[in-house]
Amino acid sequence: VIDNGLPEHARVTTCAYCGVGCSFKAEMRGEELIRMVPYKDGKANRGHSCVKGRFAYGYANHKDRILNPMIREKITDPWREVSWEEALAHTASEFRRIQHQYGRSALGGITSSRCTNEETFIVQKLVRAGFGNNNVDTCARVCHSPTGYGLKTTFGTSAGTQDFDSVEKTDVVILIGANPTDGHPVFASRLKKRLREGAKLIVIDPRRIDLVRSPHIEASYHLPLKPGSNVAILTALAHVVVTEGLFDEAFIRERCDWDEFQDWATFVSDPRNSPEEVEKISGVPAAAIRGAARLYATGGNGAVYYGLGVTEHSQGSTTVMAIANLAMATGNLGRPGVGVNPLRGQNNVQGSCDMGSFPHELPGYRHISDEATRDIFEKLWNVTLDDEPGLRIPNMLDAAVDGSFRGIYIQGEDILQSDPDTKHVAAGLAAMECVVVHDLFLNETANYAHVFLPGSTFLEKDGTFTNAERRINRVRRVMAPKNGYADWEVTQLLANALGCGWNYTHPREIMAEIAATTPSFAGVTYELLEKEGSVQWPCNDKAPTGTPVMHVGGFQRGKGKFVVTEYVATDEKTGPRFPLLLTTGRILTQYNVGAQTRRTANTVWHEEDRLEIHPHDAEQRGIKDGDWVRLASRSGETSLKARITDRVAPGVVYTTFHHPGTQANVITTDFSDWATNCPEYKVTAVQVALSNGP
Ligand code: SF4
Repeated sequence: VIDNGLPEHARVTTCAYCGVGCSFKAEMRGEELIRMVPYKDGKANRGHSCVKGRFAYGYANHKDRILNPMIREKITDPWREVSWEEALAHTASEFRRIQHQYGRSALGGITSSRCTNEETFIVQKLVRAGFGNNNVDTCARVCHSPTGYGLKTTFGTSAGTQDFDSVEKTDVVILIGANPTDGHPVFASRLKKRLREGAKLIVIDPRRIDLVRSPHIEASYHLPLKPGSNVAILTALAHVVVTEGLFDEAFIRERCDWDEFQDWATFVSDPRNSPEEVEKISGVPAAAIRGAARLYATGGNGAVYYGLGVTEHSQGSTTVMAIANLAMATGNLGRPGVGVNPLRGQNNVQGSCDMGSFPHELPGYRHISDEATRDIFEKLWNVTLDDEPGLRIPNMLDAAVDGSFRGIYIQGEDILQSDPDTKHVAAGLAAMECVVVHDLFLNETANYAHVFLPGSTFLEKDGTFTNAERRINRVRRVMAPKNGYADWEVTQLLANALGCGWNYTHPREIMAEIAATTPSFAGVTYELLEKEGSVQWPCNDKAPTGTPVMHVGGFQRGKGKFVVTEYVATDEKTGPRFPLLLTTGRILTQYNVGAQTRRTANTVWHEEDRLEIHPHDAEQRGIKDGDWVRLASRSGETSLKARITDRVAPGVVYTTFHHPGTQANVITTDFSDWATNCPEYKVTAVQVALSNGP
């Protein structure tokens, strides 16, 4: 064992890829990471891992890492390496000038779901207490913001209801808009084990994902719906539950608002929501919808797991609430084996949302207009907080183009590559006078930056990540930051350059501030995390070692709320010019835009992004497997190679977005979720034609 003389627990840290939150022992020789060994006592992974967490850490030492701060006057100028002192003084001076010239609302910040809870907490603090506004947002805007809205509205808490262990007591799983085999592999293994033991599976996905049929696993139902028809399908499932009397009246009367249930039941019972009518919208046979509804409602403990195929739609929030309705109607909440479980994409999506990264919410999902909550932070921070919600990312970009938003601090996020409508993002960034990018690499957004502050990897800092089951896992520094500072230290230096006067000496002190201000974290300390390994929030006087299953005996909001979820077709329509629907996903060996996975030694496993197309659609266009094709939408066009497969239905094409050259977000539309602005990445009308390559 290569241990640098440290005890085992001091080398245990948390994977910085997906929301499963696997624990690893880092084996070090000096400052060199030799191996990542899955940790047998990790509560989320129990000694298991996937290829990303185990092997894809080479980016930490990659030559592309920028280790010195850089500044430039104009984005067309070459970068100039400067000292940390000069970079921070320059940034502070520019930010002060902008606020003096344009007002305090002319600045904002973006937190990252790649960073720790402590780092995220102090970025939102910098914006609220330092900049004096609420213009803070997070990359969760483009993935799980509808989860936050939908679950808070229906249950009262913006989080999944169960722990991962719960799957061991599940009898029927609805898997909708998620492909855990590729996206959440260690959780997928636990799910597969349960399915092999006899649990039943219903897959709702336009694509025939692996779990529909894999060794010793056969889904009872696969509902291959037309992209964009989630709400119609879920309402049709509810129609069957209500009209066939399969709902759990005792649970609803005790735990939910009965009048709201009756209004909802009347709505879903309407014949236009019947499986026969919804078949016309979704393309899914009515008999399969009826069978799936009966299985979920009567098959024992029913659990729903979902991913971005639910949230990244113009009705993303509505879809989350439709899932919540179904779970409440069937009594599938408040005990192990059931529940509503968002599979979070990035390592700390849950945490970045918990930490007050949204412009309308302080940490713990408390609205900024709530005077009592503001009072807690105002007293501690000795400031007066703005009581109006700030700008979301798309609104910051709009305001930049309009001239009222002039400077931004972006930590660990590449908005030019990951946000919708690339041209608009570029225009917004180009219009600003001081763009500060704090990251590991010169990413695409940095093309529009005036200041670049080098970031640190998860191996170089202490802190915590919160995974998809609300589990707060320790991140431990196993090597010194190559740039000299962990990200939380850089944010503190910037805050102090602006006169904030912070003096944190370790992230445990930031966690103490989180605990002092945020009821769901009131009992969380680094000492408790050392003792327990990890805890799931809420963790407080009522639950001193955390809460594996939420809403036991009662919902966080009091009575569970049924919401009428009317299906509204997306404005993105197919037609003679754009006859196919594009949807997107991930592969196992790559991660999001590939900034880390593409910079690792295991490139032998890397697959390029391909366009999956059904044999019938390919034949019509004279396309053979491996041919270059031109993929065009109303927004833009790109080129990639075709993969001919019946995993996708006729009329649907599918691609991943791991390589910058794929430019998936040049293709996608600028439609977004009505409640949260989460982009509609999963539905784009396109045309596909044979081409000569890029
Ligand atoms: Fe990391 Fe997720 Fe793989 Fe676990 S499943 S090793 S958290 S990428």
